[in-house]
Amino acid sequence: MDTDASREFLESLPELGADETFCFDCTPDVPCFNRCCAELTLPLTPYDVLRLRYQLGMSGEDFLRAFATMRSFPDTDFPLPMLRMLDGPGEPCPFVSPAGCMVYEDRPGACRCYPLGRGASMGRDGVVERFFLVREEHCKGFDKGRERIPAQWFADQHVAVYNAANDRYMRLMTMVRATGKPMEARFVSMAEICLFQLEKFRELIEKMRIFERVEMDKPRQAAIMDTSLAGDEAALHFALDWMELIIFNKSETLCKKRTHP
Ligand code: SF4
Ligand code: SF4
Repeated sequence: MDTDASREFLESLPELGADETFCFDCTPDVPCFNRCCAELTLPLTPYDVLRLRYQLGMSGEDFLRAFATMRSFPDTDFPLPMLRMLDGPGEPCPFVSPAGCMVYEDRPGACRCYPLGRGASMGRDGVVERFFLVREEHCKGFDKGRERIPAQWFADQHVAVYNAANDRYMRLMTMVRATGKPMEARFVSMAEICLFQLEKFRELIEKMRIFERVEMDKPRQAAIMDTSLAGDEAALHFALDWMELIIFNKSETLCKKRTHP
């Protein structure tokens, strides 16, 4: 997911074609171990928050309060949580330890992609991807390891599930951006709950009897209300559908229940 600032940063980097290779490997014995996990400007997507809060066993609300600074996208007003670095020498990431990343299995998509940056935008036929190489002076991981193209690197880092969720979010933001104005305040509040606080979204589903208002089979309803990781993923997918439906009165994968006179 690009913010204006991160898009500008990506555009300033050398681009890597989808078929171009690069050599990189990062292991605990590199002299720069952990150097990249500090002083970061790291926007978190809804899927990043989903995975981190799951890993930490926290609610979305508690996670955001403890680890994020809330900003918003200037053009759409979508909530934009930024991972808050710790105060003190070197401003480390709150999840870094001498042994490495403490949330490694559920680390944010941007950490997985590094040293690649991925720019995604909506094209006529779907998502258009561009890749950029982030070659920082302190990083000694280059020129070792296997030669890989971006798709191979992403496969090794298990990024696909992050990209799929982030691209859906990017599509929603692109639709809002195309209206030429920010979202109404009520949709901004809804986005914060539905996309970043899934436990509250589930409460809302029950309180507003949302399942009675949309065409959806029972197995999908059950999956959305399940509090496992798969359940959270199903809930986020539905939250994106729901936001599309309430803002635009239509969604590619969800429709309102037909009412008969
Ligand atoms: S989440 Fe993990 S990988 Fe990402 S910056 Fe923090 S410690 Fe490093
Ligand atoms: S700076 Fe580069 S090589 Fe060093 S730990 Fe970070 S990613 Fe690995």
